[in-house]
Amino acid sequence: MTQVQAQEGSAEGRVVLVTGANRGIGRAIAERFVAQGDRVATIYRSGELPKGVFGVKGDMTSSEQVDAAFAEVEKELGPVEVLVANAGITKDQLLMRMSDDEFEQVIDVNLTGTFRCVRRASKGMIRLRKGRIVMISSVIGLFGGPGQVNYAASKAGLVGMARSITRELGGRGITANVVAPGFIETAMTAELPEDTQKKYKSTIPAGRFAQPEEVAAAVTFLASDEAGYISGAVIPVDGGLGMGH
Ligand code: NDP
Repeated sequence: MTQVQAQEGSAEGRVVLVTGANRGIGRAIAERFVAQGDRVATIYRSGELPKGVFGVKGDMTSSEQVDAAFAEVEKELGPVEVLVANAGITKDQLLMRMSDDEFEQVIDVNLTGTFRCVRRASKGMIRLRKGRIVMISSVIGLFGGPGQVNYAASKAGLVGMARSITRELGGRGITANVVAPGFIETAMTAELPEDTQKKYKSTIPAGRFAQPEEVAAAVTFLASDEAGYISGAVIPVDGGLGMGH
């Protein structure tokens, strides 16, 4: 693991760690925290980081790498007060054909990877007696999706995780919430064939996909002081697609 990118952050503001800030939704979230004056770090695997983000390389599938990356971030910026567990993957396959590997890899990154991060982050948050944990789930976690048994299971698991953390650490000034985006314009959705995109859009009450910044807005709100009494919640950012979660 090497630390590859350290840029100047604000001297003030909270220490925020967003996993996978090199692209997509994670990047938009990190940029929004930087813009509001927080000191932002990321654990990431590859690519370039937005300006002002302190990056430490690490893979979500390794507890050792996650723990070491947190230690680097704490050394450079101080204890992590806000964790956004964003890194995630899909490996879609029909149930009958889904291999153990395809199932386990998605769980390992999306669910166990988030667990590795929240476990490590909780130590500092308990000492600080405050903290904000935001997990990026998906509308698919509660709505389901054909060919997405692995992904949906991993994303639904985050709800139980956030609610258990809320019960365990809610009395220590720590909140844990889940953001469930619908279809967002990123590399993940760009891969969908055009007619599939059209079909999806016709089922979304808002009639469009969202921009990553619209997810970032919900995340920074949940991480704010004003959201101190919101915990264990699932906040959809899906244009009304999954109403009734
Ligand atoms: P992208 O595929 O654009 O980015 C995924 C990010 O996760 C990348 O930074 C990637 O790193 C990182 N990542 C993947 N595997 C690992 C790993 N093993 N260790 C460390 N980092 C890893 O995805 P999005 O921005 O679209 O999605 C972000 C989150 O939002 C995901 O959790 C996704 O499930 C969720 N989401 C996305 C939706 C969408 O429509 N796009 C809808 C609902 C939820 P690298 O660049 O190195 O691959």
